[in-house]
Amino acid sequence: MCEQGEYITSLTRSGGVWIPLFIESLNQENCAGCGRCYKACPRRVFELVEHPDGDYLGGHKVMSIVNPGDCIGDGVCRAACIKQNIICRPAKKEGALE
Ligand code: SF4
Ligand code: SF4
Repeated sequence: MCEQGEYITSLTRSGGVWIPLFIESLNQENCAGCGRCYKACPRRVFELVEHPDGDYLGGHKVMSIVNPGDCIGDGVCRAACIKQNIICRPAKKEGALE
């Protein structure tokens, strides 16, 4: 059961409470390197990098989470990903990233 009080919350313009969904992980093994998440993100959270295995799928780049602390929790990267690679979740107030 999700207890609203233990998670970081925000407000709609009319004052309604909602729980942001922050970036948690990205599956590089399944990443097409298309850049849709990067383009959709309003912050500086992502960066295209060389695949850790070097010649993976002919050497194309993959997306990486380089700055998760800048995430505002809008969840649009998750919606934009063509491969359903991105997981976003509510974040607990305790242990929030800097
Ligand atoms: S949830 Fe929003 S701010 Fe956070 S990484 Fe995804 S698109 Fe960027
Ligand atoms: S949108 Fe998905 S497939 Fe495209 S670069 Fe981002 S994580 Fe990779």
